Amino acid sequence: MPPTPNPLPLQIPTSWDVVVVGAGPAGALAAHGLARRGVRVLLVEQRLFPRWKVCGACLSPQALAALEAAGLAELVAAQGGHALRRLQLGVSGLVSPIALGSGQALSRARLDQALLEAAEAAGARVLTGTRALLGPAVAGVAPLREVVLQHGNARLRVDAKVVLIAAGLTHRCLEGAPEISTNIEPHSRVGAGCVLPADAAGLPLGVLQMAVGRGGYVGLVRVEGGEINLACAFDRVLLRSSGGAAGACQTILAEAGFGPLPPLDDAAWQLTAALSRRTRPLSGHRLLLLGDAAGYVEPFTGEGMGWALTSSLAALPLVLRGLEHWDGAIETEWRRLHHRWVTRRQTFCRALALVLRQPGASWALHRVVGTLPSLTSSMIELLRRPALPCTTN
Ligand SMILES: Cc1cc2nc3c(=O)[nH]c(=O)nc-3n(C[C@H](O)[C@H](O)[C@H](O)COP(=O)(O)OP(=O)(O)OC[C@H]3O[C@@H](n4cnc5c(N)ncnc54)[C@H](O)[C@@H]3O)c2cc1C
Repeated sequence: MPPTPNPLPLQIPTSWDVVVVGAGPAGALAAHGLARRGVRVLLVEQRLFPRWKVCGACLSPQALAALEAAGLAELVAAQGGHALRRLQLGVSGLVSPIALGSGQALSRARLDQALLEAAEAAGARVLTGTRALLGPAVAGVAPLREVVLQHGNARLRVDAKVVLIAAGLTHRCLEGAPEISTNIEPHSRVGAGCVLPADAAGLPLGVLQMAVGRGGYVGLVRVEGGEINLACAFDRVLLRSSGGAAGACQTILAEAGFGPLPPLDDAAWQLTAALSRRTRPLSGHRLLLLGDAAGYVEPFTGEGMGWALTSSLAALPLVLRGLEHWDGAIETEWRRLHHRWVTRRQTFCRALALVLRQPGASWALHRVVGTLPSLTSSMIELLRRPALPCTTN
């Protein structure tokens, strides 16, 4: 599919109710929800879609429940997503099959394109290939927020009653809000991934293969069309000592008990910035941060899209309130709501990631999974049960 055509930003209105920066799951769902409620939304994305991004491509029950709550229950299946029925967990040389009761696999290229189209169909104006930079608060009786759009050599200033920053992990767009800063956790792992041809591994459809090693983990899943999505989190030390992502991936697969993949050096690897990070504060004058832009924890449990989509749902009532009248209470309320719906869930993943790094932890996990696979399966389903904010407002 060719990239979405690129409209000229100079032709667009310069005053908006809401400008959303970033069209990943968080930004696209927020734009969709607001446009459906009659809000004038501009969704700005720096890349051309469809685009691939490093991600395990597995939608958790939380992510699926959030899509359903947004009226997009059919979206994943319509794009060729399929149910994940089994996890093959490899730890310390032992591979154990674990039944999965829920979850779907869909490539990020398809998912993100479909969400962007849903936002557009709901009435949001979409600009791809355009970078957005947050500006200062605009002077006036009820100062608005300024956003600078950069499209090739063209620049355009627009203003909005509310700006939503959903620009992902590195979100280099916050120059206009110097009070907001990101703290990267010490020893944070980095993400890496690529797409492999269908015949690269004999991985059945509906099976998620997860290899856990001392220096990180590797997840493989077959997506629509048969290709294999490969996503990893690596310690930097392992990346260096293995000569790069391809070597680190094969090291972890072998340590976990899986056979090697065909040579991966020529694959189109993409690497991410350090994964585990916290950004604070999560709000400012006419400004809320959503999704990974608000903080992230390394993706062992595959919850990132669920957190991103949930944060968009949780923000909707506040954005609608802020369109009528913005006050500091909205900023405080967003920090509280984000903590309730996202940060609290991330705390468990952060703790699990830390535990798994302790000497002997892989062996303990190996023992539990190997001897009690049905208990492990029930625990996983319990931990993945969805919980959603009310969005009827
Ligand atoms: C190795 C790995 C495996 C993972 N596996 C899973 C998994 O299996 N399941 C799961 O649920 N999650 C997984 N995740 C997490 C998931 O990918 C993220 O949590 C999710 O993409 C967050 O969505 P988002 O909308 O916040 O950000 P993103 O999806 O990163 O989208 C942000 C968008 O903003 C755009 N942007 C950035 N700056 C600007 C700017 N200045 N102007 C305009 N646009 C801008 C970017 O181009 C991007 O398209 C994984 C992550 C990694 C690293």
